Amino acid sequence: MRRTIILVMDNSAWMDIALQKAEESLRAGEVPVGCLFIYNNEIIATGNNTVNETCNATRHAEINCIDQVLKFCEDKSMDYKTVFRNLDVIVTVEPCIMCMSALLQLQVRSIVYGCANDRFGGCVSVLEVPKFYDPKVAIEGNVKGEAAMRLLKDFYKGVNPNVPQSKVKKGRKTKGTSSTQE
Ligand SMILES: [Zn+2]
Repeated sequence: MRRTIILVMDNSAWMDIALQKAEESLRAGEVPVGCLFIYNNEIIATGNNTVNETCNATRHAEINCIDQVLKFCEDKSMDYKTVFRNLDVIVTVEPCIMCMSALLQLQVRSIVYGCANDRFGGCVSVLEVPKFYDPKVAIEGNVKGEAAMRLLKDFYKGVNPNVPQSKVKKGRKTKGTSSTQE
């Protein structure tokens, strides 16, 4: 007899949660990328970029999630290699070359992303990193890509809905410079 799985979220539903993480990132003044790691149909890590907060250019959402999984495995005395090999990654933006390399070395099961990353994308956009590894991983792009792209555009336009006007520093000469983000 076949077992029926009662509740299985589809990629689009997972992506909605990842997009919420990306929105949190935008409100925190970070590049709005949200990420979930799913194991056995459960979220075991959620992350967003913390590059500005940590002044560390490598703190991308995926790297933050990898750290959480390592902690999760340590706490539960689980073998992290097994967990990563059965892990599904949901991320709002195509992983960059660094993150893609890390995810493929950890041999995650699948990667689902929202919009393309034309500047740093490691799936197809800039460098096809899977070519360098044994590509067992299932990759699916453009899941709710427009919503993910809208958040990125808001960020680069300087829209930060959570910063009250009173917090905007006055009397500081900006000389028209704009912040540059990766
Ligand atoms: Zn990255």
